[in-house]
Amino acid sequence: MRILVVEDERVLALKIERALARTGHEVSRAETGPDAVRTAMDHHFDLVLLDVNLPGFTGFEVLRQLREAAVESRVMMLTAQGEVEDRVAGLTGGADDYLTKPFAMEELLARVEALARRGGAVETSTFLEVGVLGMDVTKRRVTVRGERIALSPREFEVLQILMQEPGRAFSREEICERVWEREHEYDTRTVEIFVMRLRKKLDLDGSGVMIETVRGVGYALRSSE
Ligand code: CA
Repeated sequence: MRILVVEDERVLALKIERALARTGHEVSRAETGPDAVRTAMDHHFDLVLLDVNLPGFTGFEVLRQLREAAVESRVMMLTAQGEVEDRVAGLTGGADDYLTKPFAMEELLARVEALARRGGAVETSTFLEVGVLGMDVTKRRVTVRGERIALSPREFEVLQILMQEPGRAFSREEICERVWEREHEYDTRTVEIFVMRLRKKLDLDGSGVMIETVRGVGYALRSSE
């Protein structure tokens, strides 16, 4: 994968860069908020590893600007230990994953490999349709009433699970396991944040389609058609 490492601590940045390069990734580096935004907009990256505390402006601001510009790279936030608020803010702002500092390099590599595997997965069904909602799985495009909606890769994956079996209630744990591939550490709050983001972006009010909260279970995509 092409990976942008945004980290102002030189020693850590170099360590990450070397580890990723050793496992066959192509790595670029940025050290400040503005530098990160410029680099990520000028070149295509499959993944951006994004530190929160940066010179210039924060990683959250970088993330906000990238998502606003519809940059679709996956983003993994690197947050300081114990800062749960950072993690929630990152996910709400459009990040796909987070890793708490300090982390073992093996953990970082494992997460990156999980993202790489999913990116290259063979898709089966190519077009899904539920009422006004359309999804081209191959082109990774989502439309509402024919209008394209920009989703982050993880938002897309959560919606894809719901759209593959409309009407079926999926538990938060199942969604979490299928999207994040972490069997032990799943966090249902993460799924709630992603569903909240999807509802907001898709804006399905009055369309006859909705992501319903199924009490005691999780979520289901319902259509009145
Ligand atoms: Ca920093």
